[in-house]
Amino acid sequence: MRSKLLAAYKNLNHGVIGRKYKIVDYQLVKEDFLPIFRRRGLNKFFAIKRTDLIFYGGQQHTNRVALVKTKKRGQLAFPRTDALVTNQKNSYLFVYTADCLPLLFYSPQREVIAAAHAGYRGVLNGVAERVVKMMVSKFQVNKRDINIFVGPAILSCHYNIGRNVEKLFIKKFGRSVIKRKSGEIYLDLEKSLKIQLIKCGILPEKIDFSHVCTVCRNQDYYSARKEGLFGKSRFDSNWTFIGLKQ
Ligand SMILES: [Zn+2]
Repeated sequence: MRSKLLAAYKNLNHGVIGRKYKIVDYQLVKEDFLPIFRRRGLNKFFAIKRTDLIFYGGQQHTNRVALVKTKKRGQLAFPRTDALVTNQKNSYLFVYTADCLPLLFYSPQREVIAAAHAGYRGVLNGVAERVVKMMVSKFQVNKRDINIFVGPAILSCHYNIGRNVEKLFIKKFGRSVIKRKSGEIYLDLEKSLKIQLIKCGILPEKIDFSHVCTVCRNQDYYSARKEGLFGKSRFDSNWTFIGLKQ
């Protein structure tokens, strides 16, 4: 999947690697399953070259954002980090998700990219807002210039939540992000994020939501809820990426 908004920029490469591409394997390293990317497949299907660098964070549902300014290869370089920002060419920022929101950011004016992972905790903790702040503070990006893509995630049709989470969201984003169906509570995470982004100065027409639900479209995208993947030490994920070409 690609974003219509981001696809307009020729110097940018981005996409969502869903279930049908068998591109990522996993290897156990010190109790952690690390992804092993099949570079041939990445090149063939997504035009990511063998020499391009790949970066991703440990994604612990934090709101920590890191700046990528290294040419060194190496996994686990950003262990407790949920978002990465860079202006380096040929450096790909990846996020992995299986229900949480994958976010891509791009400022064409300053040629700066970012990728973030935001589940309900990330949205509550404002990880997207912190990405915008870093793009502004480190690269003098104008907020009105930032384009954002929001990829496949569990949507309000399926995102059943409990009362505690409901309370937190109503407090922060108002009642419109909650839906009730036959006594159950459902959260609209996309809408919550939209409220947050617009409040922090992003133009609504520059936010491109996929509106694809990982449960409804489970044949194409991994869903931790649908597939009962919680608590397992290793599970397949959707990989969403962005990179600036030379
Ligand atoms: Zn759904």
